[in-house]
Amino acid sequence: MDYQQILDTIHDEMSYRDVKGKVASYIPELAKIDRKKFGMHVYCGDKQHFCFGDSKENFSIQSISKVFTLAMAMRLMGEDLWDRVDVEPSGDPFNSLTQLEYESGIPRNPFINAGALVISDILVDQLDDPKKELLEFVRHITGDPDIDYDKTVAASEKATGYRNIALVNYIKALGNIKCDVEPIVDFYFHQCSLAMSCEDLSKAFMIFANRGRLLDTDEKILKPKTVKRINALMQTCGFYDEAGEFSFQVGLPGKSGVGGGIVAIHPKNYSVAVWSPILNEKGNSELGMKALERFTTLTGVSVF
Ligand code: GLU
Repeated sequence: MDYQQILDTIHDEMSYRDVKGKVASYIPELAKIDRKKFGMHVYCGDKQHFCFGDSKENFSIQSISKVFTLAMAMRLMGEDLWDRVDVEPSGDPFNSLTQLEYESGIPRNPFINAGALVISDILVDQLDDPKKELLEFVRHITGDPDIDYDKTVAASEKATGYRNIALVNYIKALGNIKCDVEPIVDFYFHQCSLAMSCEDLSKAFMIFANRGRLLDTDEKILKPKTVKRINALMQTCGFYDEAGEFSFQVGLPGKSGVGGGIVAIHPKNYSVAVWSPILNEKGNSELGMKALERFTTLTGVSVF
């Protein structure tokens, strides 16, 4: 398979001019991103990697971080985690407040904000310094010691994040949040502000394509069963209320963020990350989804 040729074809075929969506603006700092940015990076099981465009430039990974925090919470709690959060697709937008009351404060899944905030509560409760430990985890699986939070983005979201703050208060009222609200949202806004490139993300997500092991050293980071569960959740819940469309068009487990990043994996074969900040109406990168549809069509490699 000539992955570089396939990436070059995609780069030649499409550009930001082909899509009509908007860059996220509800977090003021994200509205400043240049809509022309477009990059893609593929890491393969044999350690080769391929790229085009802005694939080495850092961007705000936003909700992609929910996969890292879920992995950390599963390492701490194992299957007991499912007493705190469910595993069903929501069919609702990422920041939905519905479906909580009649579920006794148990969010539908760990990738909607309600679920990710319960995961934040678990990490804040169980770790001495959750922000430091998340950074160490991401730096370790990426092999990049320079990965960091973008404090300007975190502050920008904190200043406007009333809905997430309301969500934590609401879930706390329903009995499924243990810690104080402030440290939970502080941790959550920081995790969303992680600045990473397509190269970093495709390398990090190789643990989900490689049965929980680091590609370079074969070190075991996650149990194969944990990886199976996280990949299933990415497949069914990774794209807000567009998870069905992503499965239909692309056919890979993956996760998107409102910074315009998408990362997806094929078990054993590859991990692929794409970034274009122009979002469709559902909050997923419009060009990113098109590029990944072409990628699985041209490679002929999807999970289906
Ligand atoms: N920090 C964003 C929020 O909570 C993340 C949204 C996303 O990427 O889905 O609103």
